[in-house]
Amino acid sequence: AFSSAARAGKPSRIYNPELEPDPNDLILLRDFRRHGTRDMFLLYQPKLDLASGYIQEAEALVRWSHPQLGVVSPGHFIPLLEETGLITQVTYWVIEEAMREIERCRTHGAACCISVNISPRDLMEGYTLVDFIHGQTLPGRPNGLCLEITETGVINDQDHAQEVIAALHAANIRCAVDDFGTGYASLSYLSKFSVDEVKLDRSFISNMLENERHHAIIASTITLAHKLGLKVTAEGVEDVATLQALAEMGCDTAQGYVISRPITEPELHRLMGRRHFDKPLGLPDSQWSG
Ligand code: C2E
Ligand code: MG
Ligand code: MG
Ligand code: MG
Repeated sequence: AFSSAARAGKPSRIYNPELEPDPNDLILLRDFRRHGTRDMFLLYQPKLDLASGYIQEAEALVRWSHPQLGVVSPGHFIPLLEETGLITQVTYWVIEEAMREIERCRTHGAACCISVNISPRDLMEGYTLVDFIHGQTLPGRPNGLCLEITETGVINDQDHAQEVIAALHAANIRCAVDDFGTGYASLSYLSKFSVDEVKLDRSFISNMLENERHHAIIASTITLAHKLGLKVTAEGVEDVATLQALAEMGCDTAQGYVISRPITEPELHRLMGRRHFDKPLGLPDSQWSG
């Protein structure tokens, strides 16, 4: 379990005095304490349903438009906010924004699911995550929301995490394991946590056509996931040949630059609910209903 210091939001990492702190890190932490999520915004990366060829889902990806430092990527500031226990404030804001976006897509006539990345730290906040989502006064409620939990994130108290994930599941909030295959406990995650989806990490996908081992791992993960009743998403698909191979392997959805980079909300509204490729990818017609 997290120590009480970590729960109280104090740094959980022991700083190595020989490492100079990055001055930008100090600026970011100072300004997060002052302004919270004020200068943050979301981009959305569409997910392509490989069976139908339609875009019905997207992943929310946070950016920080810092007045001094320019647009800062989450790879930089998320770990800082995780270390200092500040991350949950961002998580709640992203969830709120995503739920509003789900409603906006629905008023545009598109059925839509949006996934939000959460940190293992958020699961440790106990049931407040579930309560928070249910306490939203927005119409539509949580169906349509999916939470992505990064597999590499260390979950110290697995029993507790399991309870929170089960509560989310019971509340109709879907959960996905993000970056699947890169952590130390992929299979034990699937056996312990009642998740609904696995997202195969880009490091397997990017060279799957040349790397036989990666190809075999992807094929058997798809089979295993389907046997467990889970959906599979491929992350980081950058070329049509890989997309086509994934569709033929029965992968459910795909994300990546070949479909779209992360885009703004108005751009998402133009894509959401639409078929993405005209005569898609030369796939057999049987793969493309509708
Ligand atoms: P992730 O959840 O695995 O998101 C996928 C990352 O891969 C995104 O980077 C996305 O822009 C990038 N990507 C997507 N398709 C491709 C592709 O075809 N090729 C390549 N090379 N990259 C691709 P991004 O937006 O920089 O996010 C990085 C990570 O930061 C995310 O990884 C996620 O773990 C974390 N993150 C982003 N937003 C949030 C958030 O709101 N909360 C938390 N806790 N973490 C977040
Ligand atoms: Mg993700
Ligand atoms: Mg991730
Ligand atoms: Mg990922």
